Amino acid sequence: MVKIFFAPFTLRNATERLFKEALSNTGNTKDFSGMLYLAPDAVLLNAARKTFHRITNELHVQACYIPPRMNSLMQYAKGLFDFSGEKRVVGRDMVPVIFSALSSKSLGFSCLTADFISDIRHAFLRENPAVVKDVLFEQMRSLDIAEPVLKGVGEAIDLWEAYLDFMDKNSLTDDHDLIIRHDELLPGLEKTSNDVLLVDGFIDPDNSEKAFLKKIIECSKTTFIMMPYHPGHVHMTRNLTEFLNASFETEKVFLNCDDVPDKLAYHAYSDMEDEIEEIARSIKSLFVSGGCRDLEKIAVTFPDLDKYGSMLHRVFIRYGIPHEMPGGRSSLDLRPFSDIITLICSIRDNYPRSLFTSFLSSPYFSRIPESLRKWMPTLSVISGVVSGKDSWLDFAVHGGETVEVSLIEDAKFFEKDFNFVFGLLAPLEILKNGASLTEFVSAARKCLSLLGFPTLEDIEKRGRILEALEDAFEKLIFAGETTAMRTDIAGFAEILRHLLMGMEIHEETSGVRICRMPEALAICPEYLYVGGLTESDMPSHGSSEYILPDSARKKAGLLYMDKHIELQQFMFRRLLKCSRRISLSYPVMEGDDMFLPSPFLFGGELVPQRIPGIYSAAEFMVSFEKKFLTEHYGEINSRVYASHARSAVLRVTDIDAYRNCPRLFFVRKAIGAEPLSVKEYGLEALTLGLIAHRIMEDLIREPLPGLDAFIAKARVAVDEALKGKKIPVYWKEIVADTFMQSIPLIYDKELEIRKSGYLTTEVERTITGEPLKGIRMKGKIDRFDRIGDGVQIIDYKTGAADITCAQVEKGTQNLQLFLYAAIMKSQGYKVNRVGIYSLKDISLKWCPSARRTKNDAAAGGPMDSLVIAALGFLEEAVERMRAGDFTANPINEYNCRRCPENPFCPYTQR
Ligand code: SF4
Repeated sequence: MVKIFFAPFTLRNATERLFKEALSNTGNTKDFSGMLYLAPDAVLLNAARKTFHRITNELHVQACYIPPRMNSLMQYAKGLFDFSGEKRVVGRDMVPVIFSALSSKSLGFSCLTADFISDIRHAFLRENPAVVKDVLFEQMRSLDIAEPVLKGVGEAIDLWEAYLDFMDKNSLTDDHDLIIRHDELLPGLEKTSNDVLLVDGFIDPDNSEKAFLKKIIECSKTTFIMMPYHPGHVHMTRNLTEFLNASFETEKVFLNCDDVPDKLAYHAYSDMEDEIEEIARSIKSLFVSGGCRDLEKIAVTFPDLDKYGSMLHRVFIRYGIPHEMPGGRSSLDLRPFSDIITLICSIRDNYPRSLFTSFLSSPYFSRIPESLRKWMPTLSVISGVVSGKDSWLDFAVHGGETVEVSLIEDAKFFEKDFNFVFGLLAPLEILKNGASLTEFVSAARKCLSLLGFPTLEDIEKRGRILEALEDAFEKLIFAGETTAMRTDIAGFAEILRHLLMGMEIHEETSGVRICRMPEALAICPEYLYVGGLTESDMPSHGSSEYILPDSARKKAGLLYMDKHIELQQFMFRRLLKCSRRISLSYPVMEGDDMFLPSPFLFGGELVPQRIPGIYSAAEFMVSFEKKFLTEHYGEINSRVYASHARSAVLRVTDIDAYRNCPRLFFVRKAIGAEPLSVKEYGLEALTLGLIAHRIMEDLIREPLPGLDAFIAKARVAVDEALKGKKIPVYWKEIVADTFMQSIPLIYDKELEIRKSGYLTTEVERTITGEPLKGIRMKGKIDRFDRIGDGVQIIDYKTGAADITCAQVEKGTQNLQLFLYAAIMKSQGYKVNRVGIYSLKDISLKWCPSARRTKNDAAAGGPMDSLVIAALGFLEEAVERMRAGDFTANPINEYNCRRCPENPFCPYTQR
């Protein structure tokens, strides 16, 4: 007899009803071994186990009883499989690995192919690949699907055929086969006899599952089936109902439960973090107010839990909310496993700075030397090393362009310690370009053992980690031995990552349950929070199987997009009814991405929510402070620097820095605070400037020779300038080549200067003077040339030449050259003009220009008026500096955009 119970969505104890129905048939017994309970997934099974135990307690069945068998279809099939037989079962995570070995295609592509083949195997049951191919091709041609798509489908099916051959030759079978070919592989099935069979939670099983279920029902005396029911979604379960009606004599029972009218209300939060925080505050408020003291009655779910997982964990820890994931976490989410992948990827990518640092900072490798564990995060930022074993070793010995390594405490250990780590990694590194999977596993085991993995005090946890890792290694060895697969270290990392990702680790914790949506349906918590209901995540677009187009999937009876969306809508409607109190929400944006609410929320009411109260230590601390942080930002006034400025000989360049922005000048020059930034692979502007100055100094010191001699002299000057610089050879070559290419242009420019009558006199001249009474200054002039009793001052720049007299008069130009002119004038020189020589495009820009020189002749020469203007600005700046005024006031607001002080600056933040 098959009795089907149709449970309305509001019936939250459907499984309990099912058990009670079964128990009313079993009489007074303590032995429930004749009862078989089948559910589609592990979460429903776990919930069912607890429910059964509770019911037996309520019914006063003695504590000691023989429980019913509770399985998923796959677990049941595996239980019946004769493992002592000739065939060995391969798990579904291994199928893509075998596909990849047989096709030499990437693992990612093989995963897609394996999903596609799994779908068609379940739909076409025991048809052989050739027949399936003919049927699919005929269907696709009738849909006018392009030939290249057919070719892709054909290749996937050919691969399936090769896979079946491989499995046969190696006496293997897989998870799918156990269900599809149950009559052949599970001979024990015929002999089983269940007193009561309970089937719970199935909605739309595929053809192979239906055939298997049919067989199990035939072997059972009584069968009770619980099916969700809603008058608006009858078609979702029609397939299963029709199958049962056609196969058995059935009795239908429609269970009653008071329906509550749908009242869809949802909340919107500014971003994901805000959404999670409000969920955490709401849970804590429930607990504190006594609304719910049993945290296991609360569940939190998201359509895309992977996106929220780590953030949830972090925020819940901050709010002190114990939580668990009943569905388990992927091994790869746990740091010991992800650190192993980081280690392998470090070797794969030749020790790139971020991966290598992450590996060396891992707490799970006890033999990593302390000097590297401590200093590597800093070295990765300041060293400028991008990757490369030799580069790290070179840096350990010689330091970098801007880092004097010997000044670092522990630096004396770096070379030895880097060599030690590279030695530990050598077993894997020598296989980098290709080896068998078995060789890779053996090398990985050796490396991990040498590195002391995993450093954990908790012996039990350590054991679980090693067991899971060994499990993955065993699978790799098995794949290696059966397929003779060879790969490089990138392939090895990819396969290991894939296996670890599919391996679930269950931690013994309790608290709020964080679960996926189907799991929430199985648990039916009293309080349910459903977050992340954005248009892009709910409904999701399903698995990304691109081999068979959607129209062809529909025709072939596979899951297609519309049905996938309908299934999600069905699940969502059930979800709305499965809890006493439900909270729905979505984030309005994340980063630059704006989100709309899920279309499933259409017609609902957007309700603002902000739970009053203080629920975390951070909130408690903030609650004392009523001011915004920006209100604490004040202007700087420093008496200490003021008195220094009154007595010191001021640098010419400091005057410009002060005028550009007094606040930034104070932060950088007076305090010496510079934000730490990652040193990029390249030359520091400062180094480039020093090299360029040095080369120019050597080149023009003497009278100009012929071009050939000038080029020869340039070669010597370039070599001299680069000698001893701590920069990579590659950059030395780039600098040398670039300079040598510019030499003819520099020669022409020098000829031009000399044609105007000027002769080089001095380079790199340090000057001091008192251009205004009471203001003593110093500076270094790159070069000045003489003509008669006059001079011209030149400043070299590695950027573009930018100087205009009008801006000097307005005070929006750097004063540097004009202050040099003022100091030289105070020493009796007659300065005719100043110029900026751009080494970037070998151009020279003068101030005043030749035209200005003529027009301003009456005012004592144009240079005089510019110097007078510059002295006016100097006086004003020094006066403010000496008053200790460091008010944020940029000479050009454009500077604020890239200013490191920006987030703390009253000018920009108020
Ligand atoms: S943000 Fe602008 S005003 Fe503020 S310190 Fe920087 S440059 Fe000056």
